[in-house]
Amino acid sequence: ATPTALMVGTGRGAQLGILIRGPEVLESTRRIDTVVLDKTGTVTTGHMSLVETVAADGDAVDDVRRTAASLEASSEHPIARAIAAAVPGAVAADDFTNLEGLGVRGVVDGRTVLVGRPRLLIDEGWVVPPELADAVDRAEASGRTAVAVGWDGRAHGVLVVADTIKPSSAEAVRRLRGLGLAPILLTGDNERAARAVAAEVGIDEVVAEVLPADKLAVVSRLQSEGRVVAMIGDGVNDAAALAQADLGIAMGTGTDVAIEASDLTLVRGDLLVAADAVRLARRTLRTIK
Ligand code: ADP
Ligand code: MG
Repeated sequence: ATPTALMVGTGRGAQLGILIRGPEVLESTRRIDTVVLDKTGTVTTGHMSLVETVAADGDAVDDVRRTAASLEASSEHPIARAIAAAVPGAVAADDFTNLEGLGVRGVVDGRTVLVGRPRLLIDEGWVVPPELADAVDRAEASGRTAVAVGWDGRAHGVLVVADTIKPSSAEAVRRLRGLGLAPILLTGDNERAARAVAAEVGIDEVVAEVLPADKLAVVSRLQSEGRVVAMIGDGVNDAAALAQADLGIAMGTGTDVAIEASDLTLVRGDLLVAADAVRLARRTLRTIK
């Protein structure tokens, strides 16, 4: 590769809103055949809103909301921020622990509280009454995320959180396919919510309920199958996978850790530009062959 031609490519990249770590990065895009897309914050806006609260029989909706918000006030997770913003009157929580990719734990009003994936409570052996299990089913079937709230060994409520698919995501997936890349949606969120989002943007391969530490393993597995993988993500939980991918692409709107782990950054966080980035890299390589 001639350095001059590669420099031209990086200059053009800046015009398109693509930051390229170094000219050598473009080399790796040649054989990319797969693109793994993180869901939350990449395909969706990641700006969540609290749309519904369901209390267990005998519990008060306000108690469920206030207890959850008091714990989530200590978390930076987009779900936590949505819940904390929607519920006034939070009280201080003690012994706060972040359970990466699962939820949070802490003490509120002297009660040990869990807030997070329904699986988190079930795996602890906590009771989930049928009216709450139904609420979880309904929420997930409509592509939403159900957050369970529990204390004293049982679930007392479900908070339903909704994210929004970015308007350009479907077109971006279409363009990536047009370049011969097979898209895969990767997320820590529940399988049904992931499938609903995937269907809406035209992706049929979904890997869901993946813990942050396991996202990297998903990329490695694809590579061991002989695939050459681009990964697009924004979160702290995507950083290791972005570094492992043959081409890591970060959303400029994402976390610093994700940007640092990546080869390319889409400055405005516009997924449409991902296809431009791959095309630019290929074109630059063609001129220097
Ligand atoms: P993603 O891969 O979609 O960015 P994460 O790995 O951050 O998701 O989280 C996976 C799942 O764990 C979330 O969809 C949510 O159900 C649950 N979760 C994680 N952190 C929290 C939290 N602070 N409050 C509630 N739920 C949480
Ligand atoms: Mg994300």
